[in-house]
Amino acid sequence: MTLPGGWPGETFVPAGPGHPPPMHTVAQLIGGVWGAGGDGGEFVVHDPSDSSPVTSAPVATADEVGKAVDAARGVAAQWAATPAAQRAAALHAAADAVEAAADELARVTTAEMGKPLGDARGGVEAGVGTLRQYAELAPLRGGRTLLGEPAAIDYLMPQPRGVVAAITPWNDPVAVSCGLLGAALVTGNVVLYKPSERTPATGWLLARALDQALPPGVLSLLTGGPEVGAALAAQEVDVVAHVGSTATGRAIAAAAARTGAKLLLENGGSDPLVVDGDVDPGWAAAQAALGSFANAGQICVAVERIYVHRDVAEDFVDALVERAATLRVGPGLEPGTELGPLVDRRHRDRVHGQVTAAVAEGARLRAGGTLPDGPGAFYPATVVSDCRHEMALVREETFGPVAPVVVVDSFSEGLRCAADSPYGLAATVLTGSMSHAQRACRELPVGTVKVNAVFGGAPGGAAHPRRASGQGYGYGPELLDEFSATKMVHVAPPGGGHW
Ligand code: NAD
Repeated sequence: MTLPGGWPGETFVPAGPGHPPPMHTVAQLIGGVWGAGGDGGEFVVHDPSDSSPVTSAPVATADEVGKAVDAARGVAAQWAATPAAQRAAALHAAADAVEAAADELARVTTAEMGKPLGDARGGVEAGVGTLRQYAELAPLRGGRTLLGEPAAIDYLMPQPRGVVAAITPWNDPVAVSCGLLGAALVTGNVVLYKPSERTPATGWLLARALDQALPPGVLSLLTGGPEVGAALAAQEVDVVAHVGSTATGRAIAAAAARTGAKLLLENGGSDPLVVDGDVDPGWAAAQAALGSFANAGQICVAVERIYVHRDVAEDFVDALVERAATLRVGPGLEPGTELGPLVDRRHRDRVHGQVTAAVAEGARLRAGGTLPDGPGAFYPATVVSDCRHEMALVREETFGPVAPVVVVDSFSEGLRCAADSPYGLAATVLTGSMSHAQRACRELPVGTVKVNAVFGGAPGGAAHPRRASGQGYGYGPELLDEFSATKMVHVAPPGGGHW
């Protein structure tokens, strides 16, 4: 059965003359069997640059989800009892397999969600790096030994939590999935992986590569949309790890409250950029353009709102407008493309709606902001000046190539506005003042603070997102702890005295 149209807002393009057949046909992996299930029909993913069909994938039924969880539970004890070094070797072998599939993974990522091929390749490389880091780190992380009665033995023992549901988004599908799957698997958990309905073939290729290196049944792949994610989150699993939007994270939190599953949520953000009065406005504009337009703004830590000091505001906006105009727009597979399409037209409508609402409320369009003719879900790099802090374009997550600029009279005002948000993911300040930088690091209620660079940071970085942005560590060595349950052990000598 083929369901016409996939999800609301998607156009269904039938295979036939003029339309090549889907490039990839995805199979599910349930209980160690590829191709299992499929009673829920199929959905088709379209290339956001030209609407051609690129993937067909099954929709898992609730029954298939339940069976997958039961099957996973059946092999959980065996995988948990596998020596840590052996699990780490399996993860290294999995990283080799992902590396070998890197070209195909990158091309399929671009075909499914639109990002420039070089970026997609970078995402795969980041994913491979993360798998290898977890393979190295996991066997080294033991528990503490405690100092109790001299004749007793007291220690903390990390154990796998059991069955993990990993539900992931489309915007950086390989890197994000490798982090969650790698950390969960290497710590001895079995994993049910539900990639985004926008990037099912990317998830399928990744699962195929990982599964080659793992015992059957340790990893399962379920495909479909929100209803499949919801069916999975409602199951009696031990952990639900979700990277995605805040609304979904909240629905999953409600489901986990009923089952008692541990939650890991890495959700939306509305990251501020505060531009101080003492910086070079051209350099600041280059940072803002990178933060707002990379991956067409579809990055959880994209710059979503800019508070610029009045002293440099005019030059800053002029330079930002110039940057927006020079970005090379095109399909992600075309060499030289800097700005690919948005993920689909439904999302483009949302982005454009926020921009037009801000303009209707008095903001000024300085670059972009119009819907282009032609196929696909392209949206131009957009600069909106004269914004106010209260506007939805500023306060909500836009997730598009849009830079809304608010002028402030002082660094303190910029910091105050930056802190005033329902989200708490990350923030950047550009300043030459050490004391301003220190204040930002101390005062901003977010997981990550960056000074003088919108992206970057040392390997192993981990942070707690706050408020609507989620909870728990989603990255770094600490993610290994999230997927482990600590047991305390006290062993006293028998008979009250001697061994
Ligand atoms: P999304 O939450 O809509 O979808 C993510 C996954 O959740 C998909 O697999 C989807 O099918 C599933 N899902 C949807 N509804 C569900 C439900 N009711 N129950 C269970 N699962 C459900 O997010 P998206 O649109 O794919 O991704 C974009 C969002 O992800 C943005 O908000 C972005 O900021 C966020 N994101 C956050 C991080 C981070 O580390 N904080 C990283 C990447 C993306």
